[in-house]
Amino acid sequence: MAFPTLPVDRARTPTVAEVRLDHLRHNIRTLQRLAAPAAVMAVVKADAYGHGAARTAPVLAEEGIRQFAVATVDEGVALREAGITGRILVLGAPLPGALPTYQHHGLEVNVCSQAIAEAACQLASPATPLQAQLEVDTGMGRLGLAPEDVPSVLAQLREATGLEVSGLWSHYATATSPDDAFTAEQWARFAAMVRGLPGPLPPLHIGHSGGLLMSSEATPPFNGHPMVVRPGIALYGIAPAPALADAAALRPVMRLVSHVTQVKTLPAGASVSYGRTWTAPRPTRLAIVAAGYADGYPRALSNTASIGLHGVLHPVVGTVCMDMCMVDLGPPETARAVEPGDTAVLFGTGGPPLSKVATWADTIPYELCARIGPRVPKVYI
Ligand SMILES: *Cc1c(COP(=O)(O)O)cnc(C)c1O
Repeated sequence: MAFPTLPVDRARTPTVAEVRLDHLRHNIRTLQRLAAPAAVMAVVKADAYGHGAARTAPVLAEEGIRQFAVATVDEGVALREAGITGRILVLGAPLPGALPTYQHHGLEVNVCSQAIAEAACQLASPATPLQAQLEVDTGMGRLGLAPEDVPSVLAQLREATGLEVSGLWSHYATATSPDDAFTAEQWARFAAMVRGLPGPLPPLHIGHSGGLLMSSEATPPFNGHPMVVRPGIALYGIAPAPALADAAALRPVMRLVSHVTQVKTLPAGASVSYGRTWTAPRPTRLAIVAAGYADGYPRALSNTASIGLHGVLHPVVGTVCMDMCMVDLGPPETARAVEPGDTAVLFGTGGPPLSKVATWADTIPYELCARIGPRVPKVYI
């Protein structure tokens, strides 16, 4: 299914998120090579971490991805509407009443409790089958069956007619640095649980981007059994943690750009923006950029971030507003020639990397790309 590139008039719409589909292709190929012989389940929840699931998932499918993961039933249905025919696992726990939608759209249910197992068994029939994947909690402390409950639930699901168990999985709580002892502990719990189960077993998975990039020890082959990994953030060219920045040659997919809308000179002692948190220590050339926290550029970046203008980083001064922020171009004598209409790079090529901006905002890159504001259109390149 073809999607037209959004017709964005850059004079009308100053802030856009550019999405490089060629970089997405490079990343998925890199991760598939790294994961082999394990298969890759592409995590495209939260609208593909803000990159647009309807445009990115078909590209991933073209690159051979046959399994996807989303957070909610609606996200799964949206993938089907975008033409995705592969398997789609909904990672969230289903609420009673949602199961018929899974059946209707062929979505995989996360069986993460005994109650969900019972509801799934009751509903599935040869005429209305249901696909299920069992989640076991090996230490994340979120969704999932206790390891000791897996054998009985698995047996129950196998007895039910019309119910296909297509995976058995868990989720790492850490896996952000190569020497993470808790990751090894979770793997050991998962492996011990699997060894205690009667076969044949469905495909197994536990590793996210961190698990995949960290080392092959995090997702070792299990006696030749089919394995899957579930990278999310790495697909989009972002390391899950600074320690893993060099683990694979990934390319950032998103660049957030805006425009300068006004440039002025302030006298020494003039204050900038709400709350007067910055005062010009000298005569100052100031650029006003048309992006603020409603665009997903957090207020926490006030007086800490830098923005790229003509390839050079300039400090954000004063409080970031809902729709604008201000940049110090330096003293008028030496300030770079910046004009209204010039491109301002909030993150990505020509500006600071997303991971740096996340550090400045005291958060992680995941949150920044997932929270790009709804008025910011994506431009696919
Ligand atoms: C979000 C998520 C992933 C992907 O995690 P990344 O760190 O982005 O690779 C994998 N598995 C589950 C269960 C998740 O919730």
